[in-house]
Amino acid sequence: MKWERLLSVPIFSALLMMGFVYYVTVFFFIADWVGLQSSAGSLNAIIFTSLICYCLFSFFVCVLTDPGRVPSSYVPDVEVSDQESRRPVVQQRKCETCSNYKPPRCHHCRVCRRCVLKMDHHCVWTNNCIGYRNYKGFFILVLSATLGSIYSMVIIFISAFQRDWESPGHASIKIYYVLCGVLMSSLSLILGTLLGHHIFLLSRNMTTIESYEATREAWLARKSGLSYGHSFDLGFYKNITLVLGPNMLIWFWPTAVGHLKDGTSFRRIPNTTS
Ligand SMILES: [Zn+2]
Ligand SMILES: [Zn+2]
Repeated sequence: MKWERLLSVPIFSALLMMGFVYYVTVFFFIADWVGLQSSAGSLNAIIFTSLICYCLFSFFVCVLTDPGRVPSSYVPDVEVSDQESRRPVVQQRKCETCSNYKPPRCHHCRVCRRCVLKMDHHCVWTNNCIGYRNYKGFFILVLSATLGSIYSMVIIFISAFQRDWESPGHASIKIYYVLCGVLMSSLSLILGTLLGHHIFLLSRNMTTIESYEATREAWLARKSGLSYGHSFDLGFYKNITLVLGPNMLIWFWPTAVGHLKDGTSFRRIPNTTS
């Protein structure tokens, strides 16, 4: 079932793009700049190849890892809402499509046609939902793809500046340089912005869906003269370890997710507006 996810046009396009960027960077721009036989050329080719392999590995982790399914045995938590009356209140968030109870931070994905634990968003490029179990892989994918495109862009610019453009017969190569330079600059900007957004979400222990909800709730809170606080925000460092893990040495390994629990309950900060 999960291998069938690989059979999609966006996945094929993403792989094709990675292959193209790898090929032109190593076999055209690094080769044109210092030559692949030189020590500087070999070193750059090895670094870039490792970066692309890391990106490719994170990509497959994202595609093939289930984002998190609601356990069939799941029953909602009983919470005490009123401190004076001590009346127990059952959190009843039910999915109208699946007819099952939804744990906190769980959402129904219309593309996957199921509920996803701590759903972040449905990613077209990985043909999979990004949720509790594969968010770490997704974050590393965005990080490695950003580093890869910036690396490629820098190589193109250095190579272009060091090239002798005065000698004749360079018109087609010039066009090639300009097109690839524009492509890699745009890609670096898009991926860099996406990475910045996810670093912000990671530091606040927020999902993309929650960030949209937070904007609306912050506005409502302001209107009522209250201040808004994200209830899952446990502090910068703690928030990071909840996704990347407590061991800093394996923070950037996509499959090191032993710290994840069942994804149906999350610690909250009391007296927050969300
Ligand atoms: Zn559902
Ligand atoms: Zn989905």
